[in-house]
Amino acid sequence: MDWFFRFMSNKKQDRSKNLIEESLDEIVALCKRRGFVYPGSEIYGGLASTFDYGPYGVELLRNLKNEWWRAFVQTRSDVVGLDSGILLHPMVWKASGHVDNFNDPLFDCKNCKSRFRVDKFYEEQFKIDSSKLSFNDIVNIYNEKQKDGTLVCPVCGSKDFTEPRQFNLMFETYMGAAKGSDIKVYLRPETAQGIFINFKNVVDTCRVRVPFGIAQIGKSFRNEITARQFIFRTREFEQMEMEFFCKPGTQKEWFDYWVDFCFNWLKSLGLKEENLRIRQHSKEELAFYSENTVDLEFKFPFGWGELWGIASRTDYDLRQHINFSKKNLEYVDPDTKEHYVPYVIEPALGVNRLFLAVLSNGYFVENAGTKEQRTVLKLHPKLAPVKAGIFPLVKKDGLPEIAEKIYQELISYFPVEIDVSGSIGKRYYRQDELGTPYCITVDYETKENQTVTIRERDSTEQIRISIDKILSFLQEKILR
Ligand code: ATP
Repeated sequence: MDWFFRFMSNKKQDRSKNLIEESLDEIVALCKRRGFVYPGSEIYGGLASTFDYGPYGVELLRNLKNEWWRAFVQTRSDVVGLDSGILLHPMVWKASGHVDNFNDPLFDCKNCKSRFRVDKFYEEQFKIDSSKLSFNDIVNIYNEKQKDGTLVCPVCGSKDFTEPRQFNLMFETYMGAAKGSDIKVYLRPETAQGIFINFKNVVDTCRVRVPFGIAQIGKSFRNEITARQFIFRTREFEQMEMEFFCKPGTQKEWFDYWVDFCFNWLKSLGLKEENLRIRQHSKEELAFYSENTVDLEFKFPFGWGELWGIASRTDYDLRQHINFSKKNLEYVDPDTKEHYVPYVIEPALGVNRLFLAVLSNGYFVENAGTKEQRTVLKLHPKLAPVKAGIFPLVKKDGLPEIAEKIYQELISYFPVEIDVSGSIGKRYYRQDELGTPYCITVDYETKENQTVTIRERDSTEQIRISIDKILSFLQEKILR
């Protein structure tokens, strides 16, 4: 067994680096251990691919949404906010094309009943780039692979599959109390359509002029065939979307502007440039209404994946709603009196994918200058769930009372925690795992000269400052 322990300890020493290329399992374990994300409905054995966000996770989610809202709405004079319903008139989804086209191809293994999304199955099993495949191509490949016997279930090894078929991803439900009078409605699969159907309301009631955007944050639901990779793909998720309405002919310029803006915003959250890339969609891959689309991709622990889709959607959505609702949704330019249907640029970002990106980007296991290893989440201070930990060195001699006073002063400005138990080293490591950027220690010197030590999470360096400077110090660092 000696070799095993040597192997494990070498492995440990090697790992003072960002773990982004290593297994997702460690991040999942940290999320559970430290109250970021729990498996959904756990006490009943769980419900596949559902998750609940714990006390620290909910703070991180909220910080991400607040940062987005500030950057996309509050600090801009050309974007306004909206909060539309999750349940919309069923015609909305007929008009948008979701009822007829929002499908993924699936097939089942007849033996073990495993269900697969066929395009993803081809990608994983045959290394086929599925982004350009039509449904016909999918069926042709199926026939080919059936013939040569290479279509094999990765779960049970059977070669017996059902034929590929299209599966609509929208969740259906029924509205109405009286039996027989129920109408079928859908849980929204995107927040965008709630914006399009309110375009005229916003133009008529707010002082907006094209070019302008309407932004919204909210839950969306897709009955994904294979929801997996932790919170990357789930059936219930949250989106931050903006529809930016511009004059036809100016869409290219705005598209480039928003791609740049979004990319820089991700960097401002501390996402490293080497973990980000822009992927241009090919002509074949473009959705039928889209003139141009790029994905901002992040290097997740399982490989590159879409984080943010930015699409030039032409006037497709507004025109569809004009056709189906028979309402006039044209924009009238107040100066030139010109009438037109605006073109739209849509940056659509998943909150939960951003959450996973931020955790993966900041997850390190390293030697903290001591023999012990620490796990640390190097989150940007503005995203950290807790901004500072406050520790009295010992539980006596008046030190806890001083710590409590500091805690009471800071808590009305931002989330801070007081921790009196365990060695100071252990208390540091506990906060490192939560991504807390600063730890304040009250020691015997505090009693003499009203100063404390502040330890910075990433460098582990400590400085001494006077108690009355703590608030301004933290404000300056956190709001940076
Ligand atoms: P994918 O190709 O990964 O299924 P998509 O292209 O269908 O994504 P969009 O319709 O462009 O995604 O949605 C915008 C954003 O919403 C995505 O970039 C992603 O961040 C997020 N998103 C979409 N589907 C899911 C999901 N099932 N779970 C979590 N986030 C999602």
